[in-house]
Amino acid sequence: MDALANQKSLTGDPDRGAARLAPDCAGTNFYALDRGLRQLLPLYLSNGDFTRLEPQFDRLGALAGGRLDELARLADKHPPILHPRDRFGRDEDWIDYHGAYREMEGVAFGDFQFHAMSHRAGALGMDRPLPAVAKYALQYLFVQAEFGLMCPISVTDTSIHLIRKFADKALQDYLLPKMLSGDVTAMWKGTQFMTERAGGSDVGAIETVARCEDGEWRLTGDKWFCSHADADVALLLARPEGAPSGTKGLALFALPRRLKNGRRNSYRIVRLKDKLGTRSMASGEIRLEGATAYLVGDAKSGLKQMMEQVNLSRLSHGVRAAAMMRRCLNEAMICAKSRVAFGKTIIEYPLLRRQLLKIMLPVEQSLSMFLFAASAMDRANDGDKDAANLLRILTPLLKFRACRDNIPVATGAMEVRGGNGYIEEWVNARLVRDAHIGVLWEGTSNINALDIITRAVGKSGAHRTLAAALGKLLDESVAIPVGFRDRLRGTLDRALGFAERVAAEAALEANARRAASGLYHIASAVLMAWEASRPGTDARRALLARLILEHRLGTQDPLAPSTGDWETGAAELLLSERNVELAEVTSILE
Ligand SMILES: Cc1cc2nc3c(=O)[nH]c(=O)nc-3n(C[C@H](O)[C@H](O)[C@H](O)COP(=O)(O)OP(=O)(O)OC[C@H]3O[C@@H](n4cnc5c(N)ncnc54)[C@H](O)[C@@H]3O)c2cc1C
Repeated sequence: MDALANQKSLTGDPDRGAARLAPDCAGTNFYALDRGLRQLLPLYLSNGDFTRLEPQFDRLGALAGGRLDELARLADKHPPILHPRDRFGRDEDWIDYHGAYREMEGVAFGDFQFHAMSHRAGALGMDRPLPAVAKYALQYLFVQAEFGLMCPISVTDTSIHLIRKFADKALQDYLLPKMLSGDVTAMWKGTQFMTERAGGSDVGAIETVARCEDGEWRLTGDKWFCSHADADVALLLARPEGAPSGTKGLALFALPRRLKNGRRNSYRIVRLKDKLGTRSMASGEIRLEGATAYLVGDAKSGLKQMMEQVNLSRLSHGVRAAAMMRRCLNEAMICAKSRVAFGKTIIEYPLLRRQLLKIMLPVEQSLSMFLFAASAMDRANDGDKDAANLLRILTPLLKFRACRDNIPVATGAMEVRGGNGYIEEWVNARLVRDAHIGVLWEGTSNINALDIITRAVGKSGAHRTLAAALGKLLDESVAIPVGFRDRLRGTLDRALGFAERVAAEAALEANARRAASGLYHIASAVLMAWEASRPGTDARRALLARLILEHRLGTQDPLAPSTGDWETGAAELLLSERNVELAEVTSILE
């Protein structure tokens, strides 16, 4: 049932009270609803892959708006329960999940095989692994319904990556067949335990000790934040006895939940966290009591190896934020078009229209940015060094900005629904709760901003690769008025100069977030102008590029009216339902 049919069924209510409330997006197809995604995918995927995979995007879009949405609602209301002991008093700890969560696992790990789709052929009938663009587009659709489960899905995917890349053959032969399986009842899922009480950001403070006894590694210590706490295999950092302090002394280990003889490994899930969001998924505390683990790769490169997983997770977090923001925008739009106040639908009011644009802008920015980053990943996987350097900077940019933007977007969408947005029966309340974790895990906003400025810009010079890539896109955007292209080019130069300066002068460190935001905003504006210039793409993306220049990268007098005529015209077009040709927006760009 689509949203309007949903609304019609409400009008059947005898006192018509229900019809006075705005409907939500339940029952719609989230792919069909997403004009941006549908138009951009052919730009970032090969023709063959797009044609082959589009039915899967459509199928997942329908599931996300339908069954998955129902299951996600239930799983959020029935969080996992830890049983620390069995009835005989044995420390056989286990976690019970609601049937709704288990059913979603079936869709994710069995039907779509998210965890394996970029490692082997066979997922979704493909004769080779899926491109990164397709994988992240599928994650984006899934998360519009269910956010919590994407953590175990993604961390299984990224654990497989690390084991394939760094583990020795024996360990690979032991773990990979189980982890790559599409049989939900038998497969092994992965996770990552890094944070301890002594430090999340300050990983070098890790206190877990690894002791080698008779050729076997035994781990002792406490892991403080362990999402997907009952995973079958966890990747973690520990310090081998005698290794130096700080990050240099950390080694990477794989910790199986069950030993080869079938018995429980020597660690316990001490308790589960009572969390603000991601409530369907179990995050716990783990006590390692001489647990058996396998060394992964070089004992002296533990953190360096682990950072590959962190970076993959950061990209996925950016995609998840983009997904939740899209859901927020869809909810806000359907609400604004049907809720009546003072005799008019609320979308007709200028203040509300402005609010909708404020929600829309970061949503569309994050969509362009994640597709661009994923396409860089595809080229990097094919051996393109420039693309790898591009991905180096795009990953923390997306994680930092999209996750941060998710919070005001979720709050904004809640506000558009009015009081009902605050009530847990509607999805908005969950979206507000879930939005906040993005600025914490896999590095807080500060840690990601520092990574961008001090390392990606200061050490790797990745901003120059970004500048070259964006410059090339501007060269290709010949259909965009030259004056607007020049503005974009000029702003790009300034953003790069600012980032370089902050990277070079230690005294400017407090500007790292501003400098990182500048890079994100100009990159997304250039992408949108380029996308708008492509045949068949909605040219309204160029209007969004202008909004970025004015509102994110320009200066405004807080004591003067902010809306020029162009903004009223732009809002009219952006809030309409139709595709727009470039000719219609050219005058607004000039
Ligand atoms: C629900 C949930 C699930 C999680 N799951 C996992 C998991 O599965 N595995 C895992 O390993 N971890 C997990 N984490 C941990 C998470 O990654 C950390 O909480 C996060 O990295 C922050 O670390 P911290 O809590 O120690 O905060 P701190 O590092 O103490 O940071 C506190 C504040 O100081 C700031 N700060 C720190 N250093 C600097 C600096 N140099 N400059 C400026 N500001 C700075 C931070 O930005 C932050 O605002 C999870 C956390 C939560 C909440």
